[in-house]
Amino acid sequence: MTDAAVRADRAPDLLAIGAHTGDVEVTMGALIAAHTRRGARATICHVTLGEGGHKTKTPAEYAPQRRKEAEASARILGADLVCLPHADIGFAGGPEVLANLIDLIRERKPGVVLCHWPGSFHSGHSHAANCALQAVESAPVARIRPKAPPWKVGAVWCPENWEDPFEFHPSLYVDVSDVMDVWEKSCLEHELFRGGALSFRYLDYYKGAMQAHGAVAGCLFAVAVASPWSFSPRKASFLPAG
Ligand SMILES: [Zn+2]
Repeated sequence: MTDAAVRADRAPDLLAIGAHTGDVEVTMGALIAAHTRRGARATICHVTLGEGGHKTKTPAEYAPQRRKEAEASARILGADLVCLPHADIGFAGGPEVLANLIDLIRERKPGVVLCHWPGSFHSGHSHAANCALQAVESAPVARIRPKAPPWKVGAVWCPENWEDPFEFHPSLYVDVSDVMDVWEKSCLEHELFRGGALSFRYLDYYKGAMQAHGAVAGCLFAVAVASPWSFSPRKASFLPAG
């Protein structure tokens, strides 16, 4: 995204892709609320329900609960919800995941895709990130899954995630001060973020991080995002000054 687009305050339609229910809400929820509040359409895609992530409940017990939590969160954020039919335990990406994401991008036609930063210590996150990035790359190529018309996503951004820290260097801070209440409300729909499923203090971490980024950006709360690696060399006859 160019500086001009950032200054113009345009809010493009979003597709937010996360490995597990909850990943999108806690790391991207404030960004989604900031866009939907400005009239953009947003779609949340959970690649798995994250049903394997409870310290005491079985996946069969946890899966329907996670789906209900995701539905409630999406309503609060003003987003559509798509839960892909992939299992959490043993998730390793693959062609079926990729095909589903290509189809979803072409159906929803987002201007921006949000996904995990690929440098993760959680293999589910890095697999989901790599599938999302490959789907963005493939969606404009007409010969890939030729039944649906191609679609070119304008930009991909990866928000900060405590599980995806390797080589993550933010290049943009998005002011989310006016949607923090919506973000927190949507997160609290999840047992995970109320402290019941695991012991990590998610809301303390992310609220603290957003406050720290806000201090850097000159606002109360900001989400830090990075643009994934790409190779798009420009040609010039001399070095541009800006
Ligand atoms: Zn996750």
